[in-house]
Amino acid sequence: MTKTKWTCIAKTQCLPVRMSWISAIDQHDTVATVQLRYNYRVYPDAAQRTALAQAFGCARVVFNDGLRLRHRAREAGEKYVSDAELSKRVITQAKATPERAWLGEVSSVVLQQALTDLNTAYRNFFASVTGKRKGRKVAPPRFRSRKDNRQAIRFTKNARFKVLDNGRLRLPKVGDLDVRWSRSLPSDPSSVAIIKDAAGRYFASFVVQTAEDETLPPVESEVGIDLGLTHFAVLSDGTKITAPKFLRRAARTLKRLQQALSRKRRGSQNRKKAVVKVARAHARVADTRRDWQHKLSTAIVRENQAIYVEDLCVTGLGRTRLAKSVHDAGWASFTGMLEYKAARYGRTFGRVDRFFPSTRMCSQCGRINDKMALNVRSWDCPCGTTHDRDVNAAINVLAVGQAESLNDRGAHVRPGLVPAARREAVTHPDAACSTRSVEGISVL
Ligand SMILES: [Zn+2]
Repeated sequence: MTKTKWTCIAKTQCLPVRMSWISAIDQHDTVATVQLRYNYRVYPDAAQRTALAQAFGCARVVFNDGLRLRHRAREAGEKYVSDAELSKRVITQAKATPERAWLGEVSSVVLQQALTDLNTAYRNFFASVTGKRKGRKVAPPRFRSRKDNRQAIRFTKNARFKVLDNGRLRLPKVGDLDVRWSRSLPSDPSSVAIIKDAAGRYFASFVVQTAEDETLPPVESEVGIDLGLTHFAVLSDGTKITAPKFLRRAARTLKRLQQALSRKRRGSQNRKKAVVKVARAHARVADTRRDWQHKLSTAIVRENQAIYVEDLCVTGLGRTRLAKSVHDAGWASFTGMLEYKAARYGRTFGRVDRFFPSTRMCSQCGRINDKMALNVRSWDCPCGTTHDRDVNAAINVLAVGQAESLNDRGAHVRPGLVPAARREAVTHPDAACSTRSVEGISVL
């Protein structure tokens, strides 16, 4: 028997694509089941765009009605409105009122899924408050706005969405959408989200379960990875990886557009045009970066039996002046890819304690030397070894990773939690931030 448990660790507004870390636990079998997300561009016609706009609107109204109801209950000192009660009141009963009768014009699954997002957001918030959930604190759910850059709705199996023989995607009360199938779906999808991004593009994001054994033949080498500022990553074998030129060029273009945007007058027509331009450029950079990271992470996972990275406290670093380059470097998404690919292909993945002094510890003699400034690229240890700062750190990450893996066999050998693909192919939630971020992507 295969039992699958879902854990959504998405942030407050649990929109489908933000809900990208789906974890599957396979408790009875040695083969991990992984839920993957496959994204494709879709091209709705005018009538379908209208129907989708209506569905986005209805989902938002139901979400906000549910949130308001729970707020009011709380202010009135009543107990938490249960999921079932909420659904009855803001969907079933609301449809019978003249003010909300139009909710009946969209698929009820879409409305139900909007409430599921709300319920998940509440559960994540409660778990965070009580300390059951580790990591960054989760804020309570917020109201969704018509002005949100990114809109999304979700159809599950119950909605009877269907991929037709002619390649179109049939959605209830929307129609048959034209999908650009950039690659084929490996199996029957369990749900599909339709997303409209800030650049006005539409995507279909399918969730697909893969259960087959994809374990790769074992290899000898193991690797430690240091995520640096001068290079994107440095491997313990001495390989230094920099972001490719085309990616840096695209980032520069984006920066230029963002500066142009910041000069446009608020509320002007030109500003609106500039916002779309920035969103498009942002989407392009995000897509390119993701493709590149996919290739890189796949190569590393194929070539190594075990992969260890330093557990960066990205949120902690984010508060320092390094923030910009840290976030833009996209390490979190990269290490996430390494993690789920390692699980999927039967490799070991480990994060090494972020407090261990990987940079200033000599990988030859183990001596811990004085702190050094960020601009020190190489140093000599009193034992006589000359170190490249980043390569030395990567070697230490590998050594500590291997030691921890031995101590705590089981936890690393076959991880129970398998994070699924974060935006497998072509969506780019980053695009939603485009109007907010004014500085460009610098390091990558
Ligand atoms: Zn030494």
